[in-house]
Amino acid sequence: MAKRRIVLIGYRGSGKSSVGMALSRLTGQNFLDTDQLIEEAAGKKIPQIFEAEGEAGFRELEQHVIARIPSGAGIVSTGGGAVIHLDNVRLLRMNSIIVFLNSSPEVIYKRIHKTNRPSLTGLSPRDEIKQVLNERMPLYRSAADIVIDTSTTTSEEAASLILNILKNGIFNKEKRIGLLSSVMKTDIPQGEKMLLKKLSGVHDIFLYGILGYPCMHSKSPVIYNRLFADYAMPAHYTWFEHKNPKEFFASLPGTGVRGLSVTIPHKETVIPFLDEVKHDAQSIGAVNTVLIQDDRKFGFNTDWKGIYRPLEGAEGDVAVILGAGGAAAAAVYAVSMRGFTPVILNRTPDRAKNLARKTGAETGAINDIGKYRPDLLINATPVGMGSDPNTPVPISSLKPGMKVFDLVYTPRDTPLLQAALAAGCFVIPGTEMFIHQLAEQFRILTGIDTPVLRIREMFA
Ligand code: NAP
Repeated sequence: MAKRRIVLIGYRGSGKSSVGMALSRLTGQNFLDTDQLIEEAAGKKIPQIFEAEGEAGFRELEQHVIARIPSGAGIVSTGGGAVIHLDNVRLLRMNSIIVFLNSSPEVIYKRIHKTNRPSLTGLSPRDEIKQVLNERMPLYRSAADIVIDTSTTTSEEAASLILNILKNGIFNKEKRIGLLSSVMKTDIPQGEKMLLKKLSGVHDIFLYGILGYPCMHSKSPVIYNRLFADYAMPAHYTWFEHKNPKEFFASLPGTGVRGLSVTIPHKETVIPFLDEVKHDAQSIGAVNTVLIQDDRKFGFNTDWKGIYRPLEGAEGDVAVILGAGGAAAAAVYAVSMRGFTPVILNRTPDRAKNLARKTGAETGAINDIGKYRPDLLINATPVGMGSDPNTPVPISSLKPGMKVFDLVYTPRDTPLLQAALAAGCFVIPGTEMFIHQLAEQFRILTGIDTPVLRIREMFA
C-alpha cells in the first residue's frame, strides 16, 4: 500500500493530538499539530491570538500553516475548525487518508471545559459544543475518509484501530470483488474493466460512481477521475449501471464506496434506502447525490443548485418551467429561491398539477405559453435533445430581453437556444447546470471546493 499522510480532523477534545502522538509512536512517523505550528508562527498561545486578532486572524494563520505542511507521509492533527475553509481540505486531502475523530458532545465537554480557549458563540460551553459540532458535522463528513468514535476509546486504542483499518484495507475484499465483478459484467469500457480488476486488490482506494439505468453515456466518470488526480486523492469513480436500487444498496456495505451520483430513473426510488435526506432534496422529492460514511447513507439534491447558480443576478417576476419531471421540480425550487413566481406548463397538465401541489405554483399545458410573458423560461423537457430539431414552444413566444435556460445539454446549442438568441433573449445552456451541479456534488462528496472553471474546461 502507498505511504499516505494520516490527517486527523474533528472537534476540539475529540483526541486529535493524543491520537496523533500515539500514531506517531506506533509508526515512527513524524507528527505535526497545526495548533502548535500556529502558536510557533505567531509566537503566542491560541487564546492570545484570538484576543489580538479574533477568529478571522486565527483562521488566516491556520490557512498559512496548513499550506506549508509537507505532503509526504506523516501524521497531522488539525484544529477543530480547519474544515471550515475548504481550501484547507483541498490541501489536507493531497496524498492523504483523512480520519474524522468523533466524540459525543458530553464527552467533549468533559474533556475541554477546563481549558482556557475563548468562546466562539457566546453560548454556554455545553450549548456551544452542541451547536458548533452540529454546524460542522456536514463539513467533517464530507472531508473524511474514515470515522472513528473516540468517545470511549483511549488514544492508543483509537490509533491501533486506525492502523488496523489502513493495514487490512478500507473494505472487505470479498465484498469489493463481489461488487466490482457485477460492475464488470456491464457495458463499461475495456480499459475500465482492467482498472477495476486491479482495484479489487488495492487496499486504500475509495470508490465513487454514478448509479442509473442506463448511465453509460455519463461524462461524470471522466470528470471525477481527473479531479481526483488534480487533488491527489486515493479514489476512483466508475459506472454503476443497475436496474434495482434496493439490490444495489444491499451490495454496498464493506465495499469502500464513499459516494454516488444518482441519475434517471433512480432519483426518487433511492430515497427509502437512505438514512438521512437533506431538507431541500426532500422538498424537491429527488436525490442525485449520496454520501456514504460508516455504511450510513446521506442524500442530497445538487440539481437545483445547478439551476440556481447560473441564475445569479437574474431578475423578474414570472418564471415559466416547461416539464413536470425531476429536472422541473429542481427548477421550480431554484427559481423560487431566486424570488421568481414559478408557472409549470407540461404536456400532461395533471402531472404539472401534481408537482404544483407541493409548491402552490400556477399550472397549465405547454400550449398555454401564449398567455404568459415570462422574464425567465426554463426548458425541463427533452425536446431538442440529440438530433431533435424541435423547440418545446413556438419561436413566436420568445421575446427580446427574456432569459432562456435550456436544461438539455446535448447538443450545447439546442434549437431553443439558437432561436432564443436570434429573438434577442439572454441564453443559458444546459451545460452550465451540469457543471454547477457537479461542482456542488464534488464538494459534498470530497469536501473540496473545485473551481467551476476547471470542470467547464474538462466538459468542453
Ligand atoms: P423526466 O422526469 O422524464 O421528465 C420529462 C418531462 O418532459 C415530463 O414532464 C414530460 O412530460 C416532458 N416531455 C417529454 N417528452 C416531451 C415532448 N416530446 N414534448 C413535450 N414534453 C415532453 O425527465 P427529467 O429528469 O425531468 O429531465 C428532463 C430533461 O432535463 C432531460 O431531457 C435532460 O436533458 C435535462 N436534464 C439536464 C440536466 C443537466 O445537468 N443539464 C440534469 C437533469 C436533466 P409528460 O409528463 O407529459 O410525460
